[in-house]
Amino acid sequence: MQYISTRGSAPTIGFQDVLLAGLARDGGLYVPEQWPKLPSGAQTATKSYATRAAEVMSPFIGQEIDAQTFTAICVEAYSTFRDPEVAPLVEIGEGEYLLELFHGPTLAFKDVALQLVGRLFDHVLKQRGERVMIVGATSGDTGGAAFDGVANCGNVDIVMLYPNNRVSDVQRRQMTTLTSPNVHAVAIDGTFDDCQDLVKAMFNDQKFRDSQKLSAVNSINWVRVMAQVVYYVTALEKLGRRAVFSVPTGNFGNVLAGWIARQMGASIEGFVVASNTNDILTRFFESKQMRVNEVVPTLSPSMDIQVSSNFERLIFEINDRDGAATAKQLTDLRATKKLGVSERGYKKWIEGVFVGRRCDDEQTLATMRKVFDESGMLIDPHTAVGLSAARQSAGVDFSKDVPMITLATAHPAKFPDAVRKATGQTPKLPDHLADLMSRAERSVSLPNDLKAVQSFVAKCRR
Ligand SMILES: *Cc1c(COP(=O)(O)O)cnc(C)c1O
Repeated sequence: MQYISTRGSAPTIGFQDVLLAGLARDGGLYVPEQWPKLPSGAQTATKSYATRAAEVMSPFIGQEIDAQTFTAICVEAYSTFRDPEVAPLVEIGEGEYLLELFHGPTLAFKDVALQLVGRLFDHVLKQRGERVMIVGATSGDTGGAAFDGVANCGNVDIVMLYPNNRVSDVQRRQMTTLTSPNVHAVAIDGTFDDCQDLVKAMFNDQKFRDSQKLSAVNSINWVRVMAQVVYYVTALEKLGRRAVFSVPTGNFGNVLAGWIARQMGASIEGFVVASNTNDILTRFFESKQMRVNEVVPTLSPSMDIQVSSNFERLIFEINDRDGAATAKQLTDLRATKKLGVSERGYKKWIEGVFVGRRCDDEQTLATMRKVFDESGMLIDPHTAVGLSAARQSAGVDFSKDVPMITLATAHPAKFPDAVRKATGQTPKLPDHLADLMSRAERSVSLPNDLKAVQSFVAKCRR
């Protein structure tokens, strides 16, 4: 399998290079040259998650990692999950399900991809005798999940920038209490956007980028999206019938993975794209126009996003894979804060497949409270946005008797303040994190200054 850039002018490359590159040189995102068919397997419903994962992802890897090695890497990655099913499907009502994606080491669905990505980096870099320095910005969940994914990689160092005092205590401690010598959390005196700008500036400094061998594991890395295709497939194989998925959405990586599963032939009727008050996608699906507003902080911070970076991969399809047209639209979006799609493109790719639904903080709390009253179950605020959207959409947007699966993207204990506010209950951290709040922290504070951050990164390189 070869990969092409959504902006049409970067070289075509194979799986290993896509893994290490993250972003394409022309500023685009890598996608496979064509969408493969789902590998059918025998007795899929009784196979282990890791075995099925290796099968489902195999067409994307081709000959670049041999099948036996790749299966072994999957087995190791998914052995870190507390639930042997990895992504259990839980029925919570008539035709209503939660797909629990938070049983990994850092309690957010990002573990599903990053446990695999970390091990793939280790494998490929060892084989090539190379090292990389991963730099990234995190508004909360990505930092901890990325650290945990690469904590045992001898050939990887990682620096994550986070906005000082703007991530939750649990999120911060998941980054600052790790003892691995290759992971470095840096509190930046600024906002998440400042952190992201610093990371972009480091990548744009070509000399620095090459001398430090910078690499990225943010959600535009193709391999993260690829790893997320798997749980859509296994959920449907467990359910044994067609379904709609409701997806709490930020950068559009998770819902895009579902759409790829559908392209590959998974029996998915459509997607409810769930947003909080930052509803750029809801407005887009309603009006065929994307208009950028300011970000508003909400109870579901991992979805507080202006422009969803992975949406570019869908725009590329809507443009019939015309890279030049996609590049122009994305550049114009930066300048004009607007992006529209043609009537034809909308009809062909969006209508009947995606609907957008929004859920503000009040509805989020009400949904958490309702679920607790109905079943005694605690859900996190991101999952609540997804469930509220699912309930708004059920029986309205898609065929009436198709079951609705909401992706549960975080463990309630990751957002205890919101859970307490909604239900009066304090969710318990799983055993392996029970002493998290009393562990020693190790973190560095730096000003919002490129030179200061670059010199720190250079010192971290082993
Ligand atoms: C990252 C995250 C999301 C958003 O996922 P995208 O792939 O960026 O759309 C939703 N919920 C939680 C808990 C997250 O950590």
